[in-house]
Amino acid sequence: MTIGGFIVLYTYSNCGWVVPDRVLEHGSPMSSKKGAFYMSFADFKKRSQSSINELTKKIEETNKKESYTDDRFWRPELDKSSNGFAVIRFLPAPDGEDLPWAKYYSHGFQGKGGWFIENCPTTLGQKCPVCEANSELWNSGIEKDKDIARNRKRRLHYTSNIMIISDPANPQNEGKVFLYKFGKKIFDKINDAMNPEFEDEDAVNPFDFWGGANFKLKVRKVAGFINYDKSEFESTTPLLDGNDANLEVLWKTQYALAEFTDPKNFKSYTELKTKRDAVLGADIRQTTQDTSTTAESVSESEDGAERAEKAFGNSSTEEDTDALSYFEKLAKE
Ligand SMILES: [Zn+2]
Repeated sequence: MTIGGFIVLYTYSNCGWVVPDRVLEHGSPMSSKKGAFYMSFADFKKRSQSSINELTKKIEETNKKESYTDDRFWRPELDKSSNGFAVIRFLPAPDGEDLPWAKYYSHGFQGKGGWFIENCPTTLGQKCPVCEANSELWNSGIEKDKDIARNRKRRLHYTSNIMIISDPANPQNEGKVFLYKFGKKIFDKINDAMNPEFEDEDAVNPFDFWGGANFKLKVRKVAGFINYDKSEFESTTPLLDGNDANLEVLWKTQYALAEFTDPKNFKSYTELKTKRDAVLGADIRQTTQDTSTTAESVSESEDGAERAEKAFGNSSTEEDTDALSYFEKLAKE
């Protein structure tokens, strides 16, 4: 990351290598000639160390951003009042798999040592050091401890393949296949469609190409939380007019779901415990509340919050019931 790395920051334009504004702002002695900027070799040498720091920071920023942006995933775009609308179609199990969804848990919370964003091994029926700490906090019966446990609870996710039928905010997505991560609320609606409550309702498999139904995803903000209650299935219609040739092409473009529950994507108990300790320190009751915030830590935590939001989807409350019943179960064990 010496001279080779240094060039990364520069962009080539018609009038030569140009120092980007970001570097110019720092007020280094430079002169401008025919639209390009030059500095003396002595200044260039003097800068080289600080440039490395600057570049390292830049690279870290870029890596951080890339690591949680996954183009396979679609999310509804929300307007300023956090309302969103789209029509999607859940797709069947991909080729070689049995289920049209992957179900898994993860944790995302912040401690003094940074963010903990990891898959929870209880997904695979294995012990989890965060869940263990949570049950200890929960079982203490102290309200403050329970709050901490709630904040660090494992969150339930489902991921399915979907086709976008209508996406008014991003019409370029229409007709395309994506992965969609959702929570318990939407899964309950799928389950209700498959197991209707009343005798006059027909059971529908929403994932079926021919007998399934489009899903109207309606997102609102209720009492400060993202809410999916108004979402609903339309009446059944075959997808792509039931044209088998087109459906087969579509089916072949679906993403594999097995990776979301593949043990290789879950860290070992020891690794997770080490990370938990690094984030929380020795005291599992430690929270970030009393941390003095600097401009840097604010931007870091915003970045972490964004990562957490992307990792969990934009649902803040819908898995609460699941988390609570889980802790209650633990408490009884
Ligand atoms: Zn866990």
